[in-house]
Amino acid sequence: MLNAKIPAGPLETKWSNYKSTVKLVNPANKRKLEIIVVGTGLAGASAAAALGELGYKVKVFCFQDSARRAHSIAAQGGINAAKNYQNDGDSIFRLFYDTVKGGDYRAREGNVYRLSEVSGNIIDQCVAQGVPFAREYGGLLSNRSFGGTQVQRTFYAAGQTGQQLLLGAYSALERQVALGNVKQYTRHEMLEVVKIDGKARGIIARNLVSGKIERHF
Ligand SMILES: Cc1cc2nc3c(=O)[nH]c(=O)nc-3n(C[C@H](O)[C@H](O)[C@H](O)COP(=O)(O)OP(=O)(O)OC[C@H]3O[C@@H](n4cnc5c(N)ncnc54)[C@H](O)[C@@H]3O)c2cc1C
Repeated sequence: MLNAKIPAGPLETKWSNYKSTVKLVNPANKRKLEIIVVGTGLAGASAAAALGELGYKVKVFCFQDSARRAHSIAAQGGINAAKNYQNDGDSIFRLFYDTVKGGDYRAREGNVYRLSEVSGNIIDQCVAQGVPFAREYGGLLSNRSFGGTQVQRTFYAAGQTGQQLLLGAYSALERQVALGNVKQYTRHEMLEVVKIDGKARGIIARNLVSGKIERHF
């Protein structure tokens, strides 16, 4: 069984308690820490861009010829956030509940709660990165109902939300690449995670252009 290392404590405070007590990394040491991110979809591209922005040295890998060809590009319907713009009774708990139910009760509840908590910030960040979400005629962000919920909380960009979100994440990533904080390895397939004393310390990857096997720590 995978140990997801979800922090202990009551559901609503697990992650906020953890975040306020976890050891911080001295800003001067961040440059000395190299972090490997495998994948440049919405998850990997945003993680790599955020880590670069925070001051870490990042290497990011994907097997496509461009980071922006990750499968996230296919997502269509939209992204849910408990902003309650429609004043139809939405809340963090309702988004949490609907997501756990929609995931056939198989999702990790602590992490879904955290996702619901930060869902509003995710929309704000995407807007700041230039994602062209649909708007009402008055200029406010529009919502639709998606996935059988009784509230309207889905932020969308026509039928190509994933593509627009990925372009936003990709722009943030490329900005970090241009600043020299992130090094990008496209057409590289990770073959193995290298573990030392139970901790992931590196990867073995195949350069899909030259066929060479490389190691990255
Ligand atoms: C048609 C469709 C519609 C969808 N609609 C919605 C929607 O409306 N709303 C919603 O919330 N979700 C939707 N989803 C789901 C959502 O898009 C995905 O869950 C999400 O985009 C996955 O993002 P990701 O970053 O985890 O993975 P991906 O975008 O798949 O990225 C995976 C990355 O990992 C890399 N990778 C994988 N293996 C290796 C390896 N061995 N070595 C190196 N790199 C590797 C790939 O190169 C890629 O860059 C939809 C999905 C699809 C397919």
